[in-house]
Amino acid sequence: MKTSSYVYGQWFDGQGNTVEVKSSLTGEVISLVDSSGMDFSEVVGYAKRVGGKKLREMTVHERAEALKALGLYLLENKAKYYQVSHQSGATKADSWVDIEGGIGTMLSYSSLARRELPNETFIVEGDIEVLSKHGSFVGQHILTSKPGVSVHINAFNFPCWGMLEKIAPSLLAGVPVIVKPATATAYVTYAMVRDIIASGLLPEGALQLISGRTGDLLDHLDEQDVVTFTGSAVTGQMLKGHPNIAANNIPFNMEADSLNCSILGESVEKDDPEFDLFIKEVVREMTVKAGQKCTAIRRTIVPASKIDMVQAALIARLEKVTLGDPSVEGVRMGSLVGTDQREDVSQQVAKLLKTCDLVFGGNDAEFEVISAKPDAFYPPTLLRCNTPLTDNSPHEIEAFGPVTTLMPYNSLEEAIAIAKLGKGSLVGSVISYDNDEIKQLVLNAASYHGRMLVLNRDCAKESTGHGSPLAVLVHGGPGRAGGGEELGGLRAIKHYMQRTAIQGSPTTLMAITNEYVKGAQTVSFDKHPFRKYFDELMIGESLTTHRRTVTEADIVNFGCLSGDHFYAHFDETAVEDSFFGKRVAHGYFLISAAAGMFVDPGKGPVIANYGLENLRFIEPVGIGDTIQVKLTAKRKIKKAKRPDDKTATGVVVWNVEIYNQHEEMVALYDIMTLVERHDD
Ligand code: NDP
Repeated sequence: MKTSSYVYGQWFDGQGNTVEVKSSLTGEVISLVDSSGMDFSEVVGYAKRVGGKKLREMTVHERAEALKALGLYLLENKAKYYQVSHQSGATKADSWVDIEGGIGTMLSYSSLARRELPNETFIVEGDIEVLSKHGSFVGQHILTSKPGVSVHINAFNFPCWGMLEKIAPSLLAGVPVIVKPATATAYVTYAMVRDIIASGLLPEGALQLISGRTGDLLDHLDEQDVVTFTGSAVTGQMLKGHPNIAANNIPFNMEADSLNCSILGESVEKDDPEFDLFIKEVVREMTVKAGQKCTAIRRTIVPASKIDMVQAALIARLEKVTLGDPSVEGVRMGSLVGTDQREDVSQQVAKLLKTCDLVFGGNDAEFEVISAKPDAFYPPTLLRCNTPLTDNSPHEIEAFGPVTTLMPYNSLEEAIAIAKLGKGSLVGSVISYDNDEIKQLVLNAASYHGRMLVLNRDCAKESTGHGSPLAVLVHGGPGRAGGGEELGGLRAIKHYMQRTAIQGSPTTLMAITNEYVKGAQTVSFDKHPFRKYFDELMIGESLTTHRRTVTEADIVNFGCLSGDHFYAHFDETAVEDSFFGKRVAHGYFLISAAAGMFVDPGKGPVIANYGLENLRFIEPVGIGDTIQVKLTAKRKIKKAKRPDDKTATGVVVWNVEIYNQHEEMVALYDIMTLVERHDD
């Protein structure tokens, strides 16, 4: 019953300022939330002293491994969370988005970090910038963990996903988290956090939970901390304006009210598959999570000539939506999170009805609720605004429930103008099969949206839908949507780190970043680098090969072998007035010849060639030119050994430079090899 907090290494129950939370289905008190008496200064201090210190000692891959283990552990225990989540009025599908969607997001982040980031405690970003004529002064961006804490103030609608999608990038960045769930559904977050702490899979202090008010927490933050907020614009603006947040320029990422739209293309006819897709998508977004979704379609924008048809089709589907206890067979939509939320939705609908018409549902609608107390239920509600270009209310008032407003447009320009009246949204969708119309709508409305989904017959089967944020894509929106950005792949991890431009000599930068930088001092040994195990190899270790003169036979043989008889290699007459002025060797011959020059052929610790990146052919190589290759160990990525791996391995990225007899670079690229390692 008690929804405890977990702070400074212990479970904490408040000192008597208890808030009772009721089940949305039965009205019974199911959770007591109380953070009174908490020492918020110590919560922040503990995160930094204990959790932050341990996280920063771990490499990005070690943090990612911990998150993977945690994700798998939570999946094993998921049945518990479904049971608890049910009390908030969520259907199984709603809870799936929250619970397994959240765990999936965390697992995606773990895999992304292991795949795309080096196994270091910091991140090197982008290419080296050459800042001087002779290349002795260069620059490089790096990102290091902030020695602070990230505070996540979450909304009631996704108590698990809202936590997991934010803590995953923060923990990967090496920054401990303080999670503050909304009181209304804190019991769901608590159920999961209880298991996370019990699992021992995260370092102590990496995750703390505040169930209840946050007291003077924000007063104790400093310039190395980060705050994220999801909820109402009013609270968000108030917290963003907190004097300490402003005085220390503490990054504050906000996701607030968003009046998302979906546009039915002008070209779509009643019998097109897109018409049906549109109707289904709008109804789905109205009913999933009983419309309590930051990404739900609030504004349904359709061609004026088809609005009556759309309205009739929507009503026909909405009439079939059954409300009630989601565990009962056949129930399609659950309740709102509580009676307060029902009251809030009723008030917002009443405000909207001052200028809009009620088409279906509404405050006074009679509807059946199966096997649950009806107090927290609200019926699917369709409104219609016939003058959306002059009436602001449907673009400003968010009824955070199963409510959408239909609005007509007379041209694509009008549709775009109506979409923009939302003043910034998390997501907008276009349902059409006409690529010209799609392009016009997307390019003109994109700057008002964080994400745009185009839905039609080609992608509908596999589409994740209008309302689903994805780990690899940006979630957030400009203006009214809060102006923030979450997820979006590696971007989210970097949000918790400090980007610093490092300037110096190539050798110094190589020493700092552990990556070979062109122009840095290299070292050579008698032993061929391909004969060395991963752990023996040094960054900057280099091999300069013997030389080889390119002959006409090379070109002819390579052309015949590959079937590439491009005139620049074979047609003496055609090349005379061409770009090259002479016959030249195939670029792919050069990289094949280079491999023949630098590869050590014997069986050894190099297992496989992974691929090639950043290939540039810089100068042409003609018949009689002589090439030589320099191979340098550029970057090492240690791979975690999986139970079914025969040996421990790592990926070595090699810089390859091919020169001609005038010491001009003719080609440049990186190759990746999988190399055995000894060290575990
Ligand atoms: P709130 O803005 O009231 O709450 C959001 C979070 O902020 C909760 O965790 C809440 O905690 C916390 N909070 C509130 N006041 C403070 C404070 N003074 N200091 C620190 N934390 C605080 O939003 P609700 O969740 O109640 O939702 C209200 C409305 O917000 C919805 O009806 C909807 O319109 C909108 N909303 C929009 C979302 C979006 O992403 N677009 C998502 C969710 C809601 P506590 O619960 O303990 O008050």
